Order: sequence, then C-alpha cells, then structure tokens
Amino acid sequence: MRELDGEIFMFGNWKMAQNLQGFQEFVAAWPQIEESLAKSSLWSKIEACVFPSFVQIPAFRAFRLKSLLIGAQDCSSEKSGAFTGEISASSLAENGAQMVLIGHSERRQRAAETPSSLLSKLQRATEANLRIVYCVGESEEQRAKGQTLAVLKDQLSIFDDEVLAASPLIAYEPVWAIGTGKLPSLQEIADVQASIQELFPQVPVLYGGSVHPANAGEILAIEGVRGLLVGGASLKKESFKSLLECALEYLESS
Ligand code: PEP
Repeated sequence: MRELDGEIFMFGNWKMAQNLQGFQEFVAAWPQIEESLAKSSLWSKIEACVFPSFVQIPAFRAFRLKSLLIGAQDCSSEKSGAFTGEISASSLAENGAQMVLIGHSERRQRAAETPSSLLSKLQRATEANLRIVYCVGESEEQRAKGQTLAVLKDQLSIFDDEVLAASPLIAYEPVWAIGTGKLPSLQEIADVQASIQELFPQVPVLYGGSVHPANAGEILAIEGVRGLLVGGASLKKESFKSLLECALEYLESS
C-alpha cells in the first residue's frame, strides 16, 4: 500500500459527473498544473487524489500522472464471483486504483448499505491494499434532533483494530451539506472533527460538503482538519487547481 506522507489531503470525488471530454481535458492539463504547483516546496506536503468513475480508472493510469493518486468511488463487499454489476476491490487495484471511498452518503442511500456490508467493504479494500477513505455524516433531520455525534459514532463503530491497522482516513461529510451550497459553521466542523479525533487520534479527518475555492482556506485552517473531499468543485481543472493552491496557501501561512 502506498504510504501517504502528506500533511494535507485534497481529494476530488467526480461521482458520475465527469464525461470523457472533461476527463481528457483534466488529464491533459495536469502536467502544467503540477509544474505550476511544484514551484512551491510545500507541494510535496499535499496528497492529491481524484476519484473518477470506474471506467476512467484504467485510462487514468495510462497517463501515468505524477503526484495525482487515483481512487475508486466504491467497491464490492464480496471478493469475487457471481455479483453482476459489482466491482471487486482487487480488480480496482489491478486496474490502477490506489484508494477507495467507502460509505459515501450517496452509496449509503442508494445501495442500502448496512454496517455489515460496509465492514466487508473495508475488509476487501484492506486485502487489496487500497487506502480507505471512510465517509460519515448526519442527515438534516438527525442534525435537527441533536443526534449528529451519536450518528457518527454509530457509523464509526465498525472500525476495529484490523481496519485501523490499514491506516484509513475519515471524511466527515454532513449529508445536508453535500451539493447543496449549505455548510456547517466553522465551529461546528471543529467540534465534530475534535470528537472524531478523540475516538481515533491516529486517523486523519477530512471535511467534505459544498467546499469550493472561496471557502477551502478557512476550512483547512480549522484545527485538526487534515484535508478536503470535494465533489462539484473538483471536476474542472481550474477549480481543482485553485483548491490545491488554497492548500498551499494554508501550508505557507501555518
Ligand atoms: C461529495 O460528494 O463528497 C461532496 C463533498 O460533494 P460537493 O463538494 O459537491 O458538496
């Protein structure tokens, strides 16, 4: 498994929103983006990764982009076999994925994931040497009822010693903040971040949900936030580059 030695993790979840043209424009522009960012010596402290659709993963690998990791948006809870339409963690790894998102709220909702299916996914990803980004977050209703921490604790209860030994990352993504333009207050993010850190001091915690270049800097500046998982604003090369510049600016000022 690739060591992640960066201080800040800047991840782009492309969901089902990147078409072939967008993908090609992004990868064609990456060498120049990288050259410009590498002017800062702090660039080596940032781990950047995009999570394209499954079919774009092998094509991504063919470009052999330096300093941009490739991730998958999900994996099967099964190792292999008669599971039509599913993709195994080992197949993702063979085809170039280095990381995998598990438990994204859109998957939790659409695929009716259970704690046991999620735990199996964590295990399959670990066996395949994929670095895990485990997503957690409360719904608007749960938040209104004051259940945020209880929900997160429950979602994180499947983390056992074996999972922790695989050095996962956690992305805190309030469901109501994803793709809505709504954001928790900086204090709320700080409080949740601190609570997760208390449970798992060794696990880097990222924030995700309506992040864009105009707010990335202030979120990165929250104590303990180790990076960002970004959907919409990671799709365009200019916008992803701006997000990476925000991370560099944050590192320069800290
Ligand atoms: C996401 O889907 O993980 C996400 C954070 O989306 P957005 O940035 O578009 O809210």
